[in-house]
Amino acid sequence: MEIKGHFPLALYTTMGVGGLAEFFVAPRSLQDIILIQKYRSGEGCPVNVIGGGSNLIILGDVLSGLVVSTLEMCQISHAGSSERKEIVCEAGLPLKSLLGRAISEELSGLEFAMGIPGTVGGALCGNAGVPGFSVSDVINWVEVVKPGGTLARLGKNDIGWGYRYSSLGNSEDIIYRCGLVLVPEEPEKIRDNCQYWWKKREQQPYTDRSAGCIFKNPEKHSAGWLLERCGCKGMRKGDAMVSERHANFIINVGHAVSEDILWLIRQCRTRVYEKTGIMLELEVKLVGNEIF
Ligand SMILES: Cc1cc2nc3c(=O)[nH]c(=O)nc-3n(C[C@H](O)[C@H](O)[C@H](O)COP(=O)(O)OP(=O)(O)OC[C@H]3O[C@@H](n4cnc5c(N)ncnc54)[C@H](O)[C@@H]3O)c2cc1C
Repeated sequence: MEIKGHFPLALYTTMGVGGLAEFFVAPRSLQDIILIQKYRSGEGCPVNVIGGGSNLIILGDVLSGLVVSTLEMCQISHAGSSERKEIVCEAGLPLKSLLGRAISEELSGLEFAMGIPGTVGGALCGNAGVPGFSVSDVINWVEVVKPGGTLARLGKNDIGWGYRYSSLGNSEDIIYRCGLVLVPEEPEKIRDNCQYWWKKREQQPYTDRSAGCIFKNPEKHSAGWLLERCGCKGMRKGDAMVSERHANFIINVGHAVSEDILWLIRQCRTRVYEKTGIMLELEVKLVGNEIF
């Protein structure tokens, strides 16, 4: 496992924004992750894990400590009966590849993930999903490596789940792999489901560089609707811009920097609060020292 110094992170995010990692490592095995977690505890080194980088904004010029990319951890296998099949996959597997495998095995349950970028680990941390469905629906267990290096298996009910929330996202554990339970289904039905969810993506700026939805939807209205009503669409600072297609996406139209993105996020949140009294909560994760 090679540790690299002053490693550029922008290409590791879908938004294409990020400074340098003081140290960067891409583990390839469980043993590597255990080593990282032992080092973290022993040295008191700050650690940031990054999967597909599709739900985070990296702040500042240098991110101190160690950045751990899970992209080399993408093994997949499956087992089970004719009624239920368990797919076991490592955290760095792209969600798209997992869905592709489920489709080719004629297994249903994950079609809602059609078009959600990123890895399985990131999806577990944010309980990725769409209205009515989320990753927690198909999870059976998750294995994590704790600071200090202990491997632990958590059952689905040992984990706190909510709308775009899981307790896994609030801990210092590194997700190693998980087991998902899917059900056999007719290929035509699976294909129709995928097409249904893919069509829903038309409202999103999925060909632009973004970090997904900036804010969570509050109780009564969608964040996108509120932001649009408050005139946020098209707001721009430097090369960061609120998408004209969907107001809950900030896109990088050139060489956006994190300061400009953060400025836009604050402006959007203030506008919505002043006009509606609703304080929007961040869905995207800010990585770095900034307190929001
Ligand atoms: C165009 C677009 C559309 C999107 N649509 C949706 C959507 O419909 N629904 C939805 O829910 N999301 C959506 N997203 C957001 C994003 O794709 C998901 O949240 C995705 O699951 C994040 O996965 P990731 O691997 O990119 O995570 P990252 O952005 O890399 O990381 C997110 C968080 O997870 C943590 N993390 C990642 N892997 C691990 C690990 N192995 N161990 C510990 N912590 C880890 C990171 O530290 C970070 O805190 C969209 C994003 C884009 C760009």
